[in-house]
Amino acid sequence: MIPEFVLELDKYDVLAHKRDEFNLPDGVIYLDGNSLGPLSKHTQQHLQQVVQSQWGTDLIKSWNTHQWIDLPSKVGEKIAPLIGAAPGQVICCDSISVNLFKLLSGALKINSERRVILSLKDNFPTDLYIAQGLSQLLGTDRCELKQVELPDLLDQLDDSVSVLLLTQVNFRTGDLLDIQAITQYAHEHGILVVWDLAHSAGALPLELDKHQVDFAVGCGYKYFNGGPGAPAFVYVNQRIQERIRQPLTGWMGHRAPFQFDNEYQPSKGVSHFLSGTPNILSLAGLDAAMDAFSGVDMGDIRNKSIALSELFLRLVSEAESLTNLECISPLDAQQRGSQLSFAHPQAHAICQALIAQDVVADFRAPNIVRFGFTPLYQRFADIWQAVKILNQVVSSERYLKAEFQQRQKVT
Ligand SMILES: *Cc1c(COP(=O)(O)O)cnc(C)c1O
Repeated sequence: MIPEFVLELDKYDVLAHKRDEFNLPDGVIYLDGNSLGPLSKHTQQHLQQVVQSQWGTDLIKSWNTHQWIDLPSKVGEKIAPLIGAAPGQVICCDSISVNLFKLLSGALKINSERRVILSLKDNFPTDLYIAQGLSQLLGTDRCELKQVELPDLLDQLDDSVSVLLLTQVNFRTGDLLDIQAITQYAHEHGILVVWDLAHSAGALPLELDKHQVDFAVGCGYKYFNGGPGAPAFVYVNQRIQERIRQPLTGWMGHRAPFQFDNEYQPSKGVSHFLSGTPNILSLAGLDAAMDAFSGVDMGDIRNKSIALSELFLRLVSEAESLTNLECISPLDAQQRGSQLSFAHPQAHAICQALIAQDVVADFRAPNIVRFGFTPLYQRFADIWQAVKILNQVVSSERYLKAEFQQRQKVT
């Protein structure tokens, strides 16, 4: 059945022991951890405990006795080493969308003699929508979103640009941008840069401090497995913390929330990016989920991710029935994140037919089927099995069945 060389890859996998920390449903091959990470055993236990003994028993005392009040920064500090950030620069709160609003507003204010937010046309829509909303709020004389194509990016980084807003890994194609080179080039032109790390954090080694990144946001529920709607994180580089002010000046970002002053005074450092009361249950899920990364080298994660995706590509290229799947991700593994995307006119139906066979991938409009690689719990044998089933689904044209043609709200 499974070829010997695939079993060997699993045998010598330095992350193989990690899989047992997750509660994966039997028989399911999960290639969608880049959209919603799975539940770890520790997260499940911890959430039960937080609900029963903290909320259920200790009630409001828990803000102090279980340090609920410190959770946004505690979880931020767990994330920090995984993104190359020294302490005091990362906090967990809200969603990426809301945090982008805060960062873009604050960054525009610092660079207020310029008004352009520059981004890419194929950036993740919420990033563009937030910039559009901000432009509507401030007026185009103070904020205008300009969207360009990737090949034109560097040419467009001129003195009119206030803030550059980029996502490191393209959610459709998996194209990977060079944070160091782009940040440096932008800085040479007096531009502040906001990096969206939704498909990077937990998937790739990152060196935000070393690369002099100004600001970043990332996702708690994708590669960090924090659970549906887990809070996002915000990174604000130390050297710029005193200069940025964010506009959602809620009480949790106040210097002393329980003095109930009438005047807002931001707390020091990144913690003034908090606005309202933290979502303790979601944060507790993310807190526990982060423990799966303790002692894990992000270099090992990256190496295994590349090995998994290279195996997937090789098996797809060997299958005659799969020649109609057009790989739209970079074929050079160094140029892509932790996913492979394929275009096909029936991508949606293929994805549905795969899910019906317990191979969970996702569909991205208009014609992309996307496979995410998550080294903490995937085995090389899973990849082999997934491509085998993909091959069966496509060669049998089973995906043409009516049941696979229905679109649901969430793809
Ligand atoms: C998933 C994702 C988001 C999610 O934003 P939320 O506001 O947290 O829902 C944002 N940006 C990118 C690039 C993403 O992939």
